[in-house]
Amino acid sequence: MSSPVGVLAVQGDFEKHLQAVADVGRTGMEVRTPEDLARVDRLILPGGESTTVGLLLQRYGLGEAIRRAAAEGMPLWGTCMGMILLAKEIEARRQFTLGLMDIAVRRNAFGAQVHSFEDAVELDGFERPLLGVFIRAPIVVRTGPEVQVLARYGDRIVAVRQGVRLGTSFHPELTEDRRLHEWFCRW
Ligand code: GLN
Repeated sequence: MSSPVGVLAVQGDFEKHLQAVADVGRTGMEVRTPEDLARVDRLILPGGESTTVGLLLQRYGLGEAIRRAAAEGMPLWGTCMGMILLAKEIEARRQFTLGLMDIAVRRNAFGAQVHSFEDAVELDGFERPLLGVFIRAPIVVRTGPEVQVLARYGDRIVAVRQGVRLGTSFHPELTEDRRLHEWFCRW
């Protein structure tokens, strides 16, 4: 029996990820404490509000626990806010991040007036495009040498990978397409 797939459940749209994990035949588990984290073999960081979740990660020691798990090789995938939390740097802002991907992100990069939109996104290694659901979405504005760009939307970077760490600006859990969850759950 494999360990469950963790979904950070401090705030945000974690329930949709749990459903998506179940759809690909794995057991999902809500992660709120370092003890929860110790039981899972990978972690999805969902969309939400990065300032709020950053504060809570610091307060309950979960941020440190995620850093330790990452150092031991735990696969991590951040969608939207999750990608912001994984970033080393946030453009023009000071707020807590885990600093686990060598990227800089711009929050709400499509402008305050563009709350959300959907469009096709071509992802490296995937035959057919995915539907990208962007909700006050961040983009990646700098990538370090170890970071692979997996997708661009126009000229903006919207999916990146660094080893077993994945970041997407958009929300695959809000579509019916389970290819990204399937892929990540195999790492
Ligand atoms: N705009 C949010 C933030 O900066 C992220 C939006 C999302 O996760 N849907 O925290």
